[in-house]
Amino acid sequence: MTAASSYRPPVEDYAFLFCEAFGADLLARSTGGAMTASDGTDVMAAAGGFAASVLAPLETVGDQVGARLVDGSVRLPDGFAEAYRQFVAAGWVTAEAPESAGGDGLPGVMHAALGEVWNASNAAFALCWALTQGQILALDAVASPEVRETYLTKLVSGRWTGTMNLTEPDAGTDLGAIRTTATPRGDGTWSIRGQKIFITWGDHDVAENIVHLVLARTPDAPEGARGLSLFVAPRILVNDDGTLGERNAITTVAIEHKLGIHGSPTCQLAYDDATGYLVGEVNGGLAGMFVMMNAERAAMAFQATGISDRAYQQACAYAAQRVQGPVIGRPAGAPIAEHPDVRRLLLSMSSRIFAMRALGVHVADLLDRAEADGTGPLGELFVPILKGWATEEALSITSDAIQVHGGMGFIEETGVAQHYRDARIMPIYEGTTAIQANDLVGRKVIRDEGATAGVLFQQMMGTAARLTESGDERAREVGARLAMAVGQAETATGKVVGFAASPRDAYAVSVPYLTLLGVLAGGWMHALAVQAALAHGTRSEVDAARLRSADFYTAHQLPRVQALAQTVAYGEIV
Ligand SMILES: Cc1cc2nc3c(=O)[nH]c(=O)nc-3n(C[C@H](O)[C@H](O)[C@H](O)COP(=O)(O)OP(=O)(O)OC[C@H]3O[C@@H](n4cnc5c(N)ncnc54)[C@H](O)[C@@H]3O)c2cc1C
Repeated sequence: MTAASSYRPPVEDYAFLFCEAFGADLLARSTGGAMTASDGTDVMAAAGGFAASVLAPLETVGDQVGARLVDGSVRLPDGFAEAYRQFVAAGWVTAEAPESAGGDGLPGVMHAALGEVWNASNAAFALCWALTQGQILALDAVASPEVRETYLTKLVSGRWTGTMNLTEPDAGTDLGAIRTTATPRGDGTWSIRGQKIFITWGDHDVAENIVHLVLARTPDAPEGARGLSLFVAPRILVNDDGTLGERNAITTVAIEHKLGIHGSPTCQLAYDDATGYLVGEVNGGLAGMFVMMNAERAAMAFQATGISDRAYQQACAYAAQRVQGPVIGRPAGAPIAEHPDVRRLLLSMSSRIFAMRALGVHVADLLDRAEADGTGPLGELFVPILKGWATEEALSITSDAIQVHGGMGFIEETGVAQHYRDARIMPIYEGTTAIQANDLVGRKVIRDEGATAGVLFQQMMGTAARLTESGDERAREVGARLAMAVGQAETATGKVVGFAASPRDAYAVSVPYLTLLGVLAGGWMHALAVQAALAHGTRSEVDAARLRSADFYTAHQLPRVQALAQTVAYGEIV
């Protein structure tokens, strides 16, 4: 079996993002001083150490042995249950859960940072964490006191894990087509019948119990998504005194054989008169499920950053030791990392990863401050951009990591191919890129006639202006490129808003438009980093690297905005 590659958590980058890049100590600002950027960096370093030493070594066995269905129950490879036990014992589940649910209430900015390290070290394992955290948020928002007492407390303690059950054979993107039924039994419980497919961590042996959050249709419910209600259905029923009782009537019919994330069991579950408990209002199920789905969308962006960084680290290590022929302009024996094109590949990867990481932190910060500072609409605008753009970028970044390895990248033993395979699902689950893009153009841009996007463009122009007025030539260049791209994005946004009366035009170009805004936001993140680096006065090596990365990104990535703006103007494909 391949040895798992080592993992170095990006603690310095997060320290910079927590307190410098955005001109404030984000943690102090969102916690009212209860926590500072320095505390956040300490937490991040501890999580990184745990991820590197406990989770990363299991990544290869997760891929090569994977989850298996044995006698009707899912078994994870050796080591997963023990890693989960340590994860819980170290307090990582409770740390992120909101205080209202009994957790430690780390702010969303920390969730972004931790989400990256869990996913970089072991994306299959991290899915269990992501789903449990998302379900905690949903139950905290809408569950009754009884459901909170019985289920939420156990989820927050990490003793039980959570899943989301939406998809059925005929209901993927279209949730309105869900056919699973829930019938009242008259004793406060509901009988759930139907088949759910693709349920991540739907069955496993790493925790005592599994709490399924299930969308189902009650008798006489209206057609479509308006007729969906939400239920919790535990794998093992819970007695009145809180102890575990009999198995619920939920059978693991099969687990999927997938392209990647083999360590994450993806289950087909049959509900055959299974016992469920209503969460929220009858026919109001989507509201609660959307709390979870929005959390998962952001979590998938952190997954994209994490998997990309792991692939990048592996590519760097390989390129630094592989020698192949003379390198133009370098002494004999220079490794391939010195070839101009390999440098291009590596800088392309690292500059995009920084853009994704920084945008993840910025969006989390906007959402953290939504109530206090009214930053909610900007945060909401960004969620589909972040999920759609970052997960698509991860496909290209992990592919570049293979390219750096040459033929060895295509060979499984190197281990880098796993990241490419693992990444491929990210633009599909939690709403495909098209669904993110349709949400963006329909609900976030056309609905307010581009007003929120306009606020964003103003902020970007402000950053660009500060750079173009700076005394540093490279920074001025970065600012000028950003300003030009913002102008192109404004034109594209005008086109999208102009498609209000012809939605087929808008939806035909929604993905290019989402990509445009993602690439642009990445450029803005680099510009902010340059601004913070310039403020240091004397330039350290790290500052110089930030400037080089921004210069590269704005020269190699930002020009895509112009091409995408032209595509957006094209409208429907006829
Ligand atoms: C590994 C894995 C894990 C998963 N985990 C879970 C889970 O834990 N819980 C769960 O409930 N589900 C889960 N899913 C299901 C996943 O969310 C769906 O696969 C996804 O939502 C897409 O649905 P679909 O596969 O039916 O594709 P379809 O909906 O059939 O889509 C096929 C294509 O059509 C496009 N399309 C469909 N509708 C539209 C539209 N309105 N506008 C534009 N384009 C459209 C899509 O973008 C896509 O390109 C998982 C899937 C996988 C593979």
